Amino acid sequence: MHPLLQHDLDTLPEILRQACDTAVSFLETLPERSTCPPASAQNVQDEDDRLPESGIGAQAALTHFWNRYASGMSASAGPRYFGFVTGGGTPAALAADWLVSTVDQNAQLNFDTIAPAIELATVAQLKQLFGLPESLCGTFVSGATMANFVSMAIARQWLGEQRGIDVAQQGLAALGPVRVLSASAHSSSVKALSMLGLGRDALVSVATLPGTEAIDPAALEQILLSAPSVPTMVLASAGTVNTVAFDDLPALLKLREKYDFWLHVDAAFGGVAAASKRYAPLLAGWEQADSVTIDAHKWLNVPYDSALQFTQQKHLALQVQVFQNHSPYLALPAVRPDNYLHLTPENSRRFRALPVWMALKAYGRDGLAEVVDRNVALARLLGEQLTNTPGFTLLAPVNLNVVCFALDTTDSSPRALEQRNQFLKLLDNAGVVRCTATSLNGKPGMRAALVNWMTRESDIRLALDSLKACRAEV
Ligand SMILES: *Cc1c(COP(=O)(O)O)cnc(C)c1O
Repeated sequence: MHPLLQHDLDTLPEILRQACDTAVSFLETLPERSTCPPASAQNVQDEDDRLPESGIGAQAALTHFWNRYASGMSASAGPRYFGFVTGGGTPAALAADWLVSTVDQNAQLNFDTIAPAIELATVAQLKQLFGLPESLCGTFVSGATMANFVSMAIARQWLGEQRGIDVAQQGLAALGPVRVLSASAHSSSVKALSMLGLGRDALVSVATLPGTEAIDPAALEQILLSAPSVPTMVLASAGTVNTVAFDDLPALLKLREKYDFWLHVDAAFGGVAAASKRYAPLLAGWEQADSVTIDAHKWLNVPYDSALQFTQQKHLALQVQVFQNHSPYLALPAVRPDNYLHLTPENSRRFRALPVWMALKAYGRDGLAEVVDRNVALARLLGEQLTNTPGFTLLAPVNLNVVCFALDTTDSSPRALEQRNQFLKLLDNAGVVRCTATSLNGKPGMRAALVNWMTRESDIRLALDSLKACRAEV
């Protein structure tokens, strides 16, 4: 064995203690750490892009990394990072994630590890948490992008099956064009259309209900009527990123009875609202969708990267047809909900279920519901405060946990865009709170998405103080 490997083997507990001490010091200062380190701290320093011929051992490497680069890491896991939709990691989820790397299981049905059984049990618990039926099968993937991709791949296979075509075997050309209908599809779904060979142009934009980002079911029916035999999937949103709009799923289900289409629900973060009794009704109908996406690294607060893809059991054989890693000349691999190797693009798989399983064990339904309720209450508070603060205006009512706002001077002019960008730059430099840019109805605005388990009322006050201070400067 190489002497450095031998040395590190002999001092393994010390190495792990050093990593633990480093982690603890990071987490202790997380609330004060900048939510956006300066660009100068985001560059790799000289020599660190060159391969060393000889190493320095784990402890020196850890020290080297931390001394040089701790300042380049944002407080994205902290209580005032409201940019994009960014969760943190609860203590139980974080500790479990360390163990995942330690035990290093390949989460497949290889009959040599408990990992797939725990994944199955975690999926079962999540269905109870979210009020989803047993008929849904769930699989961990790396993010909602991948969950949307997998869902649409199964939809593609189903659309072929309806017409006697096996797309997985014959290719998409045998099926021809597919129509994809959505009002406010997330950009990741559009990316998935490209990856699936369906093409970004397959997306047909459906009109929204007045003043919302939600599908107008009557407009959807018009499109369905116009060409009823075209293979069609409908991408519904359960929580859009700008205004957290929920499509009227019962209305879409009624249309599905009349016009055969695949109904996919992107509930990347909005789905987690179902953990709270108060907000669960927003998701009514999702239990009957053909497929569902839920992110775990957003509102479930497990470390990156983790999400779930759900498929109705009756479609599971189609999922295996698409994702089987097996000779097509032999029988299909067993169609079972824990045969994970044959259910998603991945072959070797991280034991992603454990952090979610541990968080559910540690905090239970009421612990996770409390995070949802608190984030929503704080988003509403932030929205009210911004409404009452000269210089700001809301671009939309606060539907749930996202505040979509703008400077009060905002119109659709290039000058307004410039001013918004200048404001966000000041806000990032201050580093107290991170909001990210968006536009709604052509107006340049900003979003604050609250999904972190640590956020409290004092964070809203600190955030507002920084927003006001930066507003005074533009
Ligand atoms: C974040 C998000 C996605 C993409 O999720 P990733 O986990 O970043 O891949 C898809 N849809 C919605 C609604 C989202 O909020």
